[in-house]
This record gives sequence, structure tokens and C-alpha cells, in this order.
Amino acid sequence: MGEFDLIEHYFKKPVRHADLGIGDDCALLSASPGQQLAISTDMLVEGRHFLSTVNPARLGHKALSVNLSDLAACGARPKAFLLSLAMPRVDRTWLEGFSEGLFRLAEAHECELVGGDTTQGPLNISITVFGEVPHGQALLRSGAQSGDDLYVSGTLGDARLALEAFRGTVQLPSPVLESSRLRMEMPTPRVALGMALRGLASAAADISDGLLGDLSHILRASGVGACIDLPKAEQLLACLPHWPCPEHLLHTCVLAGGDDYELVFTAPAAVREQVQQAALLSQTPVSRIGAIRAEPGIQLLDRQGLVVQRQFQSFDHFATA
Ligand code: ADP
Ligand code: MG
Repeated sequence: MGEFDLIEHYFKKPVRHADLGIGDDCALLSASPGQQLAISTDMLVEGRHFLSTVNPARLGHKALSVNLSDLAACGARPKAFLLSLAMPRVDRTWLEGFSEGLFRLAEAHECELVGGDTTQGPLNISITVFGEVPHGQALLRSGAQSGDDLYVSGTLGDARLALEAFRGTVQLPSPVLESSRLRMEMPTPRVALGMALRGLASAAADISDGLLGDLSHILRASGVGACIDLPKAEQLLACLPHWPCPEHLLHTCVLAGGDDYELVFTAPAAVREQVQQAALLSQTPVSRIGAIRAEPGIQLLDRQGLVVQRQFQSFDHFATA
């Protein structure tokens, strides 16, 4: 099977929202009246972001999911995406699974594949997404104010827990391993929540590199600091009682885990009720885990309200030991 047959067979679908899709040198997109285009790209590299043994349908899901998560963080509605794919050879079984997982999520979000690039090489998946957000309403990292509430969506740390199990640093009962593995391999982009937070959240980011790391991007961009109440952060882990792991690992997973694809965001205390409404409307659990304060840095408070001194390292591809 050649390059063009492959594209035709696995990736070409009629477009409904774009003006022109796969087959020409460019796709054509128009922003709806009053909307800005929100654009983001994310790459998954074999051996770095996923193992060669991962189920291809889950990989297709994840490749798009991590991109939709960026749109969610900006409060944008997904519209279209481009797929650039390098693969060592044409593996029909793999392509079948990959495209199925990819399109299932794409269809759920009415986000259509309008083009891309296909080449031979080490397995590497790069997606660029296009979304729409009403002019001036995108959620940014720079708007957090002292006194704002600090929130996260969903649960944190599951993906890191699965990774630790694969690394052999923790032994998990198989139901826990399966559920945390599913969170690692098939993250849920919080698109509906992001859109519901327009006009409410003062700042937002998605958590790809760990809560502390991604929160610190918001803090730096906004020129503020934050205080996190650890017991509150623990309560957000609905799955916590099932985690048979020591406190240190728990904190590492929850605070610095990475691959969560949840949203961390801030909002004025005055809109606390509306934030809960947004959570209900989008059917996404949201937990208030602390507050923004003027003093820079992140302070962690334990059960007794004492400051926790331990340092956590969030994920950085180019960090030196
Ligand atoms: P070019 O020669 O301009 O790089 P190609 O010949 O590689 O374009 O691609 C032909 C068409 O197929 C283009 O419309 C391109 O966007 C689309 N395409 C190529 N690879 C993919 C892919 N992996 N997924 C979706 N569309 C693709
Ligand atoms: Mg061309």
C-alpha cells in the first residue's frame, strides 16, 4: 500500500465544518463570525511519550486528546485538526486501530481531520488542532489575581501511578492498575469544562507536566503565588482510598505526576457558585484546592496547616539531573 492509498483509506473523510479537507495542498478553514481561531500542536514520540506495546486505538485517542486538552485550557471549541505521522512501515493492523481510536474521539468533539503529512521514519505522531473561541474570551495563563480561588478538575496522579507500576516502583492490585493505566493511555480532554469557564476563570492551563509545574506557569504569567491545602488536594482524589501507596509517592503523583490532562484554573471567590454550575453543566468534577496570594511561589499546607518543606520536580524533557 502506497502513501496516497494509505491516506485515502485510513484518514480521508468528507468534511462538514471546514471549507476544504484532505486532498489539496492546503485545507481551507473560515472562523465563524465573532470568533478567534485557537491553535495548538503537540507531538508524541515513541519511547518518550508512549511504549511501542501500547494499544494503537488508545494511542490514536491520546494523540488527539492531548491536543484537545490545550483547546480546553483556552476555553475553545474544537473545529479541525492536522495529523503528521512518521512510521517505520505500513502496518495495517496498527493503522486500523490508530485511526479508529483517533476518529472516535474526533467525532465525539465534532473535530475533523483536514490534512497532514505522512512519512517513513521512527514512530512519531504530531497533531495540530484548530478551535474557536469568542473574540477576547480565551482563557489565558496571565489573569490570576491575589485572593482568587484555585481549582483543579477530575483527579490527579493516576497516570503517574500507572507509570510507577510499569517502572516497578510500586505494586498495584490489578483493578487499580487497569484504571490508572486507562487514565494514562486514554486521558479525557476537559473541553466542555473549559468552554463553561469562559467569563468565570481568571486564568487556566491544562496539567500535562504535573500540577505544581503547570500551576507555576500560571503564577509566573500572572505575577502572583499560591497556597495549596494538601488535605483538600487529597480529597479531590476520589480514587485515593484505593491507592495502596505511601504518602510520599501519593504526593509525587498528585502534585508532580504529569500526563493528567486535567485543568488547573483560578476564579474570583465571588463566582464560586457559578464555577460549581459550570462543573455541573459540563459533568466534570471540580475541586477547590487553595487560593492565589500576592507572595510569589507555591506554599503547601498539611493537615495541621503547617508548611510542607519537601521539593517536587515537575516533568521537563530537557531537565538535567
Ligand atoms: P504535500 O505533497 O503538499 O506535502 P501530500 O502529498 O503529502 O501533500 O498530501 C496529500 C494530501 O493528503 C494533503 O491534502 C495532505 O494534507 C493530506 N495528508 C497527508 N498525510 C495525511 C495524514 N496523515 N492525515 C491526514 N491527511 C494527510
Ligand atoms: Mg503540496
